[in-house]
This record gives sequence, C-alpha cells and structure tokens, in this order.
Amino acid sequence: MSLMRLAYASEATFEAKPVEQGVEPHVARILMTSRRNNGKSDLVGGLYYGDNHFFQYLEGEEEDVRKTYARIQGDSRHRNITTLIEEPLENRTFSNWSMKYVPLSSDVRRFLERHGLERFDPASFTSRQCEEMIELVRNSSQGDKLVNYDSAAMSGAKVQAFSPGLRAGLLVAAACLMGALFYAGSLL
Ligand code: FAD
Repeated sequence: MSLMRLAYASEATFEAKPVEQGVEPHVARILMTSRRNNGKSDLVGGLYYGDNHFFQYLEGEEEDVRKTYARIQGDSRHRNITTLIEEPLENRTFSNWSMKYVPLSSDVRRFLERHGLERFDPASFTSRQCEEMIELVRNSSQGDKLVNYDSAAMSGAKVQAFSPGLRAGLLVAAACLMGALFYAGSLL
C-alpha cells in the first residue's frame, strides 16, 4: 500500500449564480458527495472554487486517489481538467478532513495579489503557487464553512465602508467629545 497526492485545476461548466444569492448550490452538492465518499476511503484534501474555476487537492492510498480522480474526471460539472501534481507521498499532511473547503477568501485574494494574478485560474499556477494554495487550504481552520471567494469579497467591501481615514477621524472626534465632557464636568 502506498500513499500519493494529487492536485488539479478545472473550469466549472455550470452558470455561476449571482453572488448575493449565497453559496453556489452545485459546489455545495459536490462537497456533500465528496465528504461522504472520501470519508469512506480515507481520502483527505481540499477544494477551492473561485472565478468559476476549481482547485482540488487529494491525498490518500494510491488506488483510492486514482479511482476518485477517474470519477471526478468524468463529471460533466467541470471541464478542461489539468493535472498539476501527481506523485507519491510519504506521510499524510491533512488530518481529519475528508474534503476541506477553503473559506479564507481574503487569503486567496492576497495570494493572487502577491503573485500579480488578476483572477483565480489555477491551471496557470506554477508548482510553487500550487504548494502555496495547498498550504492555504491546509491552514484554513474553518473548512466546514461554505463561503466562496466572491461572497467574501463582498463582506470585505462592507468592512472597507469605514476607511482608515474615516476611522481615524471618528477616533479624533470621540477624543474631542471626551475632552469637552471632562472640561464641562470640571466647570460644574
Ligand atoms: P451519487 O450519489 O451517484 O451522486 C451524488 C450527487 O451528485 C447526486 O445528487 C447526483 O445527482 C449528483 N451528480 C453526480 N454527477 C453529476 C453531474 N455530472 N451533474 C450534476 N449532478 C451530478 N467525488 C468524490 O467522491 N470525491 C471528491 O473529492 C470529489 N471532488 C469533486 C470535485 C469536483 C470539482 C467535481 C465537479 C466533482 C467532484 N466529485 C467528487 C464528484 C464526482 O465527480 C462524482 O460525481 C461522485 O464521486 C459520484 O459519487 P457517487 O456515485 O457516490 O455519487
């Protein structure tokens, strides 16, 4: 028995629904099936969906990884499947996850920015970028949450409604108000 790891990129064939409608139902169904099946055959790994592309990482017994990948390759919900990593593995690097779904979208956006990439297109990743993506999925502590790249971008936009300048202004105003209250109190 030997372990192996595998990563691939693909393009979703379904029409991505508008971000404000929440989690993509196709992705939610894929995750449900993956978690059920992968748990049974002790496969671990992670799935990332963004900009209508998938990045998936799998590790486990070679036979199980290959059987699962063959099923995945025959799935009509995606196309242009590009194998990025396919090699033997000494020890498992994921624990207790049958299929982690990365919710750290701000981390992925930072990753894209760092590499000067405009969109999430994992088929064009270098091997170093693949390893970074795997690390991102591995380090995500909230793999059970269903948050996609775009919805996190939206929540990011809400946070930015208080820009650093506005925040500083509000702090100064609060400090002035406190000072005025102190002064008024000392006059009484
Ligand atoms: P079933 O129980 O027969 O089907 C599960 C559900 O998926 C059913 O509701 C079925 O209607 C629906 N379904 C299946 N195929 C399609 C399709 N082509 N179009 C629409 N709905 C469909 N499977 C894994 O086991 N492990 C994985 O890690 C994994 N990762 C995936 C990643 C991606 C990006 C995609 C697209 C698919 C992935 N799958 C994975 C699913 C895989 O391709 C097979 O659909 C699945 O393994 C079949 O397993 P099953 O026979 O138990 O599913």
